[in-house]
Amino acid sequence: MARTSSRFAPETDNQSPSPHCPVCGSYEGRKAFDCVEKGFELVACSQCGLGRTSPPVPPGRIGRYYPDTYYGKENVRFNALFERLTRLFRLRRARVIRKTTRPGPVLDVGCGRGFILSYLKSLGYESHGIELSDTAAWHARNVLGLDIETCDFLQSPHLKGIYNAVILWHSLEHMPRPVEAIGRAWELLRDGGLLAVAVPNYDSLQSRLFGRRWFHLDVPRHYFHFGPKSLSAVLSRHRFEVVQEDHFSLEQNPYGWVQSLYNALGFDDNFLYSLLKNRSARTVKMRRHPVQVGLTLLTLPFVTLLALAMTGVETALRMGGTIEIYAVKRGG
Ligand SMILES: [Zn+2]
Repeated sequence: MARTSSRFAPETDNQSPSPHCPVCGSYEGRKAFDCVEKGFELVACSQCGLGRTSPPVPPGRIGRYYPDTYYGKENVRFNALFERLTRLFRLRRARVIRKTTRPGPVLDVGCGRGFILSYLKSLGYESHGIELSDTAAWHARNVLGLDIETCDFLQSPHLKGIYNAVILWHSLEHMPRPVEAIGRAWELLRDGGLLAVAVPNYDSLQSRLFGRRWFHLDVPRHYFHFGPKSLSAVLSRHRFEVVQEDHFSLEQNPYGWVQSLYNALGFDDNFLYSLLKNRSARTVKMRRHPVQVGLTLLTLPFVTLLALAMTGVETALRMGGTIEIYAVKRGG
């Protein structure tokens, strides 16, 4: 059954984001390129470098870009090996939260299948999550038994000033009003509470090299494309103190190189990504593309080695394909 936007949480309004840069307010932007997804272009702010997808899809219509295959059957997207790896990565993230905060209420905005929240719950935290739709929240709610709201983060019923941590892990770029979302996180956190944000890095080496073919661009689902400068500007505007900025992510960055390389070499866009998914989440029929499957499998070991080497280079240059920023609420 085709997904309709009515299955998504209602938005506060159906207005598209304004044409000016929401971070610095500048109306000066330059077109970077036409996106692979037809009808969209990437516009970069001349002042702070924030990229934005133009035209932005009105929030009430974005649901059509999250078909059921985006989540997979029962929210399982990848093959067994990659599913196992995904869980290990989530455990690592939960350990970072554990190291930097004491047990108490935590809120994961865009919590996906809820693995982080589940680990934190087992460590004595009070876990709450938000997801975009009931489909996305299915696993966290029904398998892990977690408390998940499907609502607009800006209108969520959560209490202000009580959270030890708010997590925005690869969700901020999916929001049409990210500056307000950071402000909302500030409201919900207690004084000294931790904000954990991860986003694709539009100023990264891989983004600059691959442009419209960059895997982490994900247009039009990503409304905005942050770099360290624009993200730090939003955080300091809301009186967050950045305590850590990481440019290395084994989960995200080598794969960004691998997939972007294949995209640039002329393979169907994100073909390998589809190959790694399980059948319920695949959008491409592999039997129809035997040459691409063969060439991908044959070259994958070499491309992976190259990607790992380039991940080392981008980390050393502090131009990682994704960035993870930890910031503390000060002066509430
Ligand atoms: Zn700007």
